[in-house]
Amino acid sequence: MQIRVWGARGSYISPQKSYALYGGNTTCLELTHQNGNRLILDAGSGIIPFGRKVAMEEDENREYHLLLTHTHIDHLQGFPFFLPIHLRKTKIIIHCGRWDVTAVSKTFERLFATQYSPIKTIDNLSADITFSEMDELSTYNVNGFDVTPVRTQHTTDTFAYLIKDNSQTSFGFITDHEIDDPIINNRLIESFSGCNLVFHDGQLDTHEYFDQKGWGHSTVEKAVRNGLDMSVAHFGLFHHSPDHQDTVIDSMKRDILSDYNETMKISFVAEGQLFEV
Ligand SMILES: [Zn+2]
Ligand SMILES: [Zn+2]
Repeated sequence: MQIRVWGARGSYISPQKSYALYGGNTTCLELTHQNGNRLILDAGSGIIPFGRKVAMEEDENREYHLLLTHTHIDHLQGFPFFLPIHLRKTKIIIHCGRWDVTAVSKTFERLFATQYSPIKTIDNLSADITFSEMDELSTYNVNGFDVTPVRTQHTTDTFAYLIKDNSQTSFGFITDHEIDDPIINNRLIESFSGCNLVFHDGQLDTHEYFDQKGWGHSTVEKAVRNGLDMSVAHFGLFHHSPDHQDTVIDSMKRDILSDYNETMKISFVAEGQLFEV
């Protein structure tokens, strides 16, 4: 399985030059199965350049599977500008964990309402858009990938995903998770134990967490300890704070690698990076 990073930033877009190394686009990943099938994770602003790329591909009947962690705006804001929504003979299937709050389809409909968009209504899009909900801790076949949703600790319904391809290599995507509730966190540790690669929320430093406790994000330090508890082979810190310019992330990276690099391979995930598991 290949994982291409189209956006690794959390909270909001950060287009300034001082953010160029880790990237300014918000969350979006492209997963490619060894059989060539594709899965998109989240529709942050990173889905916009991804959409431009795939709109150029020649394909009579297009089908895109989008796996959504939650509906906070940094995970959704690219969708109204995802070019395939305007293409005919195109299906977009949005998969997500089962929400307790407003149905995910209603949230997507609002994105195109006249107050936000010249499209006026989602019904004016050329693509056929459908929604598919999944029960937590059950495994589903999503475009050839085995996908298991596991709830995170966040401020709205949010799911991490365990994703496997045929060869049973595993990728874990745990973005937007605060490590504070032992029941939720232990379930995640158990579910993602032994993964080949995990991307994990690492938005904050310890000092910032003091002011932002309850906002649903992890410190880099706590995230790395979670990775060690999961015994993952490769651990990627993800959902970088827009308060952290490249120099700040580089300095956090130096500190973390000097403390933990012997025990687990650790990366600070950057936009444009390609991972293979
Ligand atoms: Zn987020
Ligand atoms: Zn969020």
